[in-house]
Parts: sequence; C-alpha cells; structure tokens
Amino acid sequence: MIRTRFAPSPTGYVHIGNLRTTLFEYLFARKNNGVFIVRVEDTDQERSVTGALESMLKTLAWAGIVPDEGVMLEPGDLGEGDRVVQKGNFGPYIQSERLNAYKKYAQVLLDTGFAYYAFDTAEELNAMRENQQARKVATKYDRTRMRNQLTLTPEEVTILLASDAERVVRLKVPDSGEVSFDDIVHGKTVFDVKEIDDQVLIKSDGFPTYHMAVVVDDHLMEITHVIRGDDWISSTPKHLLLYQAFGWTPPIYAHVPLILNADKSKLSKRQGDVAVEDYQKKGYLAEALVNFIVFCGWNPGTAKELYTKDELIKDFSLEKVSKAGAVFNIDKLNWYNKEYLKSLPLDELVSRALPFFMNVPFYEKFEPQIANEGAWFGSVLSLERERVTTLAELPEAVKFVFELPEYQKELLAWRKGTVEEARKILPELKSFLEGFSDDDWNKAALEHKVGEWIAAKGYTTGSALWPLRVALSGQQNSPGPYEIAEVLGMEESLKRIEAGVMSLGA
Ligand code: GLU
Repeated sequence: MIRTRFAPSPTGYVHIGNLRTTLFEYLFARKNNGVFIVRVEDTDQERSVTGALESMLKTLAWAGIVPDEGVMLEPGDLGEGDRVVQKGNFGPYIQSERLNAYKKYAQVLLDTGFAYYAFDTAEELNAMRENQQARKVATKYDRTRMRNQLTLTPEEVTILLASDAERVVRLKVPDSGEVSFDDIVHGKTVFDVKEIDDQVLIKSDGFPTYHMAVVVDDHLMEITHVIRGDDWISSTPKHLLLYQAFGWTPPIYAHVPLILNADKSKLSKRQGDVAVEDYQKKGYLAEALVNFIVFCGWNPGTAKELYTKDELIKDFSLEKVSKAGAVFNIDKLNWYNKEYLKSLPLDELVSRALPFFMNVPFYEKFEPQIANEGAWFGSVLSLERERVTTLAELPEAVKFVFELPEYQKELLAWRKGTVEEARKILPELKSFLEGFSDDDWNKAALEHKVGEWIAAKGYTTGSALWPLRVALSGQQNSPGPYEIAEVLGMEESLKRIEAGVMSLGA
C-alpha cells in the first residue's frame, strides 16, 4: 500500500511551492489507490502559530486536497464550524504529541552506540567554529575535541546527566564511506559521509530535531514514498544514516524541483505573493491554481494543458517530474484562470463570485435582488466573465449594471461619427425600441430587429450601436449593447437611453 505524507510546519499559510509538492504527494497516492497523510511538524516551538493548522487545512480543502489519514478538518457539532481532528491508526500525527517516541528511539541509538550525549555550551560551539574557520577547514562538530560522551569519562557523563547541565543527543556519523539512494527524479544520488555533520537528534529543550522526527515518523507511519522539495536533498543522507542505525528500510525518495522567480531565485515573499491564501483572496479559482501549479515541475509530455482533478490523478506520474526548477509564470496562471472562469457553470460562478461582492458599496442596495434572482445575477456576471482575469475584478467590472456611471456626452459620439450624428440617431433608435414588447426584449431578438432597422435606415452599424452601447453602459469599453440591454431589462434600458438622449440635448 502506497502511503505519502504532507508534513507542514504550522506557519499559518500554505506556501505555493508546498501546495505544488502536496499535490504531487496527493495525486501519487490517489493514482495508486494509496493513502495520503497530513502530519504536523511542530517541533520548532518558536515557529508554531496558534490557529495556523486550521487555516492551512482549510486552504488545502479549498484546493480540493482532503487527507485520508492524519490531521484533518471535521465539521463541528451544532454549526460551530470545522475543527481539527486526527484520524488513523498511526497517531498522534502532531509531532509535539509524539515526544515519547523520539525519546525512546534516541535511547535506542544511545544504547547501540549510534548516538552520544554532548554537553557543549553555545560559546564552546562558537569557539569551535571560529577555530575551524581560522584553519580553513569545514565547520563540523568535532567529536574528538568537544565535551561529549566520547571524550569524557563515564563518571563525568553520569554526573553531568544527573545535573541540570544542558545536553543534546548527536548522531555518530561513520568516519568514512558513502551513502547513496535512487531518487525517482534525480536518479542515483551519492554523498560522502565526510560531508555529514554529527547532527543533533534531540535538542537541549528535549524536542527532537527535524531529522530525528522525520525519520522516526516516516518509519512508524509506514510512509512508502517521501516526496519533497529538492532543497531537502542534502538532508536525505542524514536520514539514511539514521535508517541504517535503526536497521530500518528507508522509504523511496522523490525530490521535486523548487518553484522559482523569473530570475531563477527561490520564490520568496519579497518578490510577491507566495501564500496560496493570497491567490485565493485575489480571486483565482482553485481549479486554475491547481492546474497551473501542477505544471510547475510536471509535464505529461502532450499538448493537453487543461486538466480536471480526476484527469490529473489518472495521468500524473513522478517519472514525468523534471529536475530543473520551475519558473512561476503569472501570465500562465492568469491564462488558466480565464479559461476556468469561462467554463464554470453559472450557479458555481455565482456562488464563487458572491464573497467578492460583500464589501462593495453597491452590493448592499442590491442584495435582496441578487439573493432572489440568482439566475439574473448569473447573467450579470456572464457579461464580464470572459473580460476579467479573476473573480475579484468582477464587482468593478459589472458595477455599471447596478449604477450607471456619469459620462460626458462626447462619449456618445462614435469614433468615426459626431455628436450631431448621435443626437439624430439615438432618439430614433429609442422610439424604435419603445415598440418592443417585454417578451421580445432579449439579445437575439434585439440583434435581429435592430440590425434590420439599421440596414433599412441606411446607417452604419457603428453610428447606431456605439451611442446605444454607451448610453446603456456609460463606459468607453463594455460588452455589446444587446447583451447589456437583455440584462438590464426593457424598462431600465429605455431609461438609460432616454438619459443619453437628454444629455445630447436632443
Ligand atoms: N516539515 C518540513 C517542511 O516544513 C517537511 C520536509 C519533508 O517533507 O521532509 O517542509
């Protein structure tokens, strides 16, 4: 059974690169009928943020990623909202609740001689590093010169352990040899153990380091595939040494490329939005962001670019993940978002767009109408859905439907025509439109009949439709006049045309 995991630290937001890596973990598990687990790595106590977990899990759920096991959200009773729960037979899934397991396994390593206590103070460690730098040798824990279980007598160690002296547990890295592994993305990867430090496994506060916790947990939780960013690749030999020391079989590794800025630097907060939540707030659709981000590092090798989640599950493979860093291209994300906006079912468009209208001044006034006439609101949004890039742009884009903007009468003149011409044609067109019945007032009928009228009058299309469109929208640029007229309805349309006629002084 394939078991993958997402192991976030509770920072409070989901980094866009983590979303991508998590999707790889999730898709790979789904494709292979495996289990996708969320485990929380909160042993770095300074970094933990209260409430962070809940919002991170909500963000994952928004992106369609729901864990099978581990830390997840469950609807609370009595409508009290979601709450964070842990489910599965390998729990707890929050590392700060697993301290006994790390202590137990650290003791195993101490007993078997694969780890040792060290009692050095921060000052002593600094002095060691300065000394090494002065000698131009690699800065590494020097187990032969420092104060630890290997240099002190057993009596001295016993006394120190019984005292309140600070102590850490360090891994005793072999003096020579190689550690290698077959990475799914990078192929055979070899490290010389000389490059590896005697890393700390248990810190002086009693908490495990990432290296210790990740190995113990991946093993105990029976993780089969560790899929993570390739910034962790240099940690892998340390993990493999731990697996060796424990006599455990390591998981299979796939180190996936980082997401980069256009200048190939690591995507960081300084360069723009890195939190998934930022994109959510900006009105990107989850489907678009997911489709876009999966392509940052993965390429199926075909021309197909639009993938539903089910299609991704079907076609995803780690073998098609590239080694090279993936550049985050916002234009491509915008293209995806526009594509998904176009094809979203109308009721979905309405429910996804509504939150973006909540703080918009005109919304309050029209709220009852919008609430009662969902289909009408859908047609309002339809006017602009192909003209905007994100949901957040919709309120401003459709505002003219709710409130006719003020405009100068000169705007009614077509670029190839004059104000005088508009002053002649618009009133005539208005009289013609007054002859319509409410039932006829739709895009198709208007297009047909007004088209015939224009031809019969011998006017150019622009000279009639430009002033009509401006009168209806009050804007230089807008959707076509027939679409707007249908959405506004006959009464409001005629009112606006009348206002245009008045402003021309006709
Ligand atoms: N907790 C690590 C992180 O924050 C997880 C790294 C791993 O997947 O091993 O990214």
